[in-house]
Amino acid sequence: METSQLLTFFDAVRAAEKLTPTQLNALMVKHVHDADGNSVAQTKIVAAYKELTAQGVIPFERELFERLRMKPTRTISGVAPVAVLTGPYPCPADCIFCPEAKGVPRSYLPDEPAVQRARRAHFDPYKSTKARMDTLAAMGHPIDKIELLIIGATWSAYPKKYQEWYVRRCLDAMNEGAAAKTLEEAQKRNESARHRCVGMVIETRPDYINMDEVRRLRWLGMTKIQLGAQSTDDKILAMNRRGHTIEDTRRAVRLLRLAGFKLHLHWMPNLYGATPESDVRDFQNLWNDVALRPDELKIYPCMLIEGTDLYKLWQEGKYRPYTDAELIETLAQAKRFTPPYCRINRVIRDIPAQYIVEGSTQSHLRVVVQQEMKKRGWQCQCIRCREVRNEKLEIEKLEIQDYQYETDATTEHFLQYVTPTGRLAGFLRLSLPRADVPREEILEELRGCAVVRELHIYGPALELGVSDSGKAQHSGLGRHLAEHAMQLARAAGFKRMAVISAIGTREYYRRLGFELGELYVARDI
Ligand code: SF4
Ligand SMILES: [Zn+2]
Repeated sequence: METSQLLTFFDAVRAAEKLTPTQLNALMVKHVHDADGNSVAQTKIVAAYKELTAQGVIPFERELFERLRMKPTRTISGVAPVAVLTGPYPCPADCIFCPEAKGVPRSYLPDEPAVQRARRAHFDPYKSTKARMDTLAAMGHPIDKIELLIIGATWSAYPKKYQEWYVRRCLDAMNEGAAAKTLEEAQKRNESARHRCVGMVIETRPDYINMDEVRRLRWLGMTKIQLGAQSTDDKILAMNRRGHTIEDTRRAVRLLRLAGFKLHLHWMPNLYGATPESDVRDFQNLWNDVALRPDELKIYPCMLIEGTDLYKLWQEGKYRPYTDAELIETLAQAKRFTPPYCRINRVIRDIPAQYIVEGSTQSHLRVVVQQEMKKRGWQCQCIRCREVRNEKLEIEKLEIQDYQYETDATTEHFLQYVTPTGRLAGFLRLSLPRADVPREEILEELRGCAVVRELHIYGPALELGVSDSGKAQHSGLGRHLAEHAMQLARAAGFKRMAVISAIGTREYYRRLGFELGELYVARDI
């Protein structure tokens, strides 16, 4: 950080009539950066101010100093998402729409913000994780609970040694620099670290999932898997050279669900061969097909990017991106079929507009689609559209609802806490495997167990161990949901319950009577 940057920043802080912590953060992010262009932690700026005044470069001003030290607000959701990109490595597949740029993982483009950040860190997992944590902290987000999202092409195709090193170094960064010799050591340290990993996610392909991979993903610490499903139609999958079938996706979803993972699918409208009508039907298949029914969904409308084989098809007049109107219509039509247990995280991929040859560059697509649905009296019931934000909750008025649905291998209970106005304050996903599931499809540790795949309570972020009554996260809602789930499992004949716990939530489950096994925490019920 340069002195000139700091002086401009101090001027801006001094000039502000009234200053909230959020505004202070915004000024900090705008004006002060380190050599790599990342924002700088507030503590460092305060230290720099002290030094500059001690050296007599600028006079000390009490009022300015107080402003600089302002405590950040505890904001937004309880968990800080840290997305890091793996290094360039060839993807085993060759989908016709997928861009390939030098020096970045397949499917990513050099000017995307996440890619730029990764390049600044030379794709080093330790530096990437640390830089992202520092930026979030500088922006006033608590970073004691971290969800680590490892992105970049097909994770399962990377060498095993690389995978292990990558995860270990990310954890080392959360463990504040202590370099662990083994993955297990890094995980153990993180259990009581100040920045705990409460979720870990990778993205991979359906045809790479088998029982060995399932076990390995859990061993690495993963709690959620993003799978590129893209379409439920074998013809479309083949036309776009996906290299897998819908049966592969079904099988992957089944094995991952039985292992307790949260299931996040990517779905792509506007693929080669699709029409707005076929896309709406395809979206419905995600829910009608009992073997799919994902927990989360990312909608990435297919984008036309120069240099891809899809681009050639477009030049030959065989492919056409939807217009804005067509895309909005398709998504509005489709979204109303979303069941309440799914969260639609995204409706567009944030590709810088200069890469898109033709088609939608609407970056506010989600809002536009929502407005369109509202006009017609439709509603998206997905989790994201219903979750409580920073609203104050009256705990006594919350109601537990059990939304039950079947899959090809389990009975699922989506237990949700709803407010009188239908807002979602928290939920738990309970999977009850059916008795006819072949033994070899269930990891030894989970045989005979009911499985909790996710427990999430909304509310403002709180630092670990700090209680704040009245806000959702620490009011025992989680414990209630867990107890309710145990009752349901017992009633269905289960004698044991397991939870896919991230490293940072093991402690929480210990307090609920669970013990750490090899890959899961579990207890008799
Ligand atoms: S699998 Fe993913 S990264 Fe690989 S070519 Fe297809 S879209 Fe691109
Ligand atoms: Zn929604």
